[in-house]
Amino acid sequence: MSDKPIVSVLGTGIMGAAMARNLCRAGLEVRVWNRTRDKAEPLAADGARIADTPTEAVEGADVVLTMLYDGNTVLEVMREAAPALRRGAAWVQSTTAGSELIGDLAAFADAHGLLFYDAPVLGTKEPAEAGKLTVLAAGPEEGRAAVAPVFDAVGAKTLWTGEDGAEGSASRLKLVANSWVLAVTAATGETLALAKGLDVDPQKFFELIGGGPLDMGYLRAKSQVLLEGKLTPASFAVTTAEKDARLIVAAGQGNGVRLDVAEATAERFARAAAQGHGQEDMAAAYFASFEEKDGN
Ligand code: NAP
Repeated sequence: MSDKPIVSVLGTGIMGAAMARNLCRAGLEVRVWNRTRDKAEPLAADGARIADTPTEAVEGADVVLTMLYDGNTVLEVMREAAPALRRGAAWVQSTTAGSELIGDLAAFADAHGLLFYDAPVLGTKEPAEAGKLTVLAAGPEEGRAAVAPVFDAVGAKTLWTGEDGAEGSASRLKLVANSWVLAVTAATGETLALAKGLDVDPQKFFELIGGGPLDMGYLRAKSQVLLEGKLTPASFAVTTAEKDARLIVAAGQGNGVRLDVAEATAERFARAAAQGHGQEDMAAAYFASFEEKDGN
């Protein structure tokens, strides 16, 4: 392998496309595949080679990066890619897959001679586009030279949590972080919904907490998305957020921890999706507080 690895990106949705673009900008040789080819095609202008199948995408790759919807999708796509995977290649698994399937993912890597990196990311569409994600990573020392240029291209920081990807220490930290993100998002939606119901100007609420310990950048950012009607294109879609909330609940249940807020948050996302907000930004969970789709 040269010092610039050949990288295959499987999944070019909101996050995967932005990450692939930054890999191209870093001068790496990038191959991409996406189930819906249209979403991968713009990356050709950045220098990526568009593949028709996962097999074609991973042929000859030093690093395979998965950024798909969930763990089951990852297993499905990697099984398809399997015939062309090179033994000794590194697999950077960045999809938020939770902790329950980590054993299956690591076993797949083992069976195919891949160095497994459990590597979820913190940060949404904008930091992904700017190459400023935080990569949470667990995986062997042995392949770190191959994955370092990948992490450097997509992230501002890599936080190593361990050497054994199969233990899922990075994915466990990601679940803890997302439990905070989703709880804040749900609380933001409910607070703004209550303000609307009580005829309180949200700006008065911001004025009240402004600059004090109750103020928060994330509250401001998600409120802005909602109040300025910038729910599409989504940075993090309602359906994906529901998937993550359910992963958090399952991880709690599997480890003797009851998570009432995460469970209620998952239900709010599900209701918002049923109202037709599934592909909007997760700030649209606000609408779950009302009977009508538009919150009026
Ligand atoms: P997204 O835009 O919805 O992308 C999902 C990707 O998965 C797309 O490439 C989609 O292909 C593919 N996919 C879904 N089901 C599939 C199937 N059955 N077979 C093959 N491919 C399938 O979502 P995203 O926001 O980029 O999120 C991707 C992952 O990153 C998720 O695990 C999410 O939790 C995590 N994440 C997201 C954010 C964020 O802020 N958005 C931040 C950190 C982590 P199609 O294009 O064909 O649908």
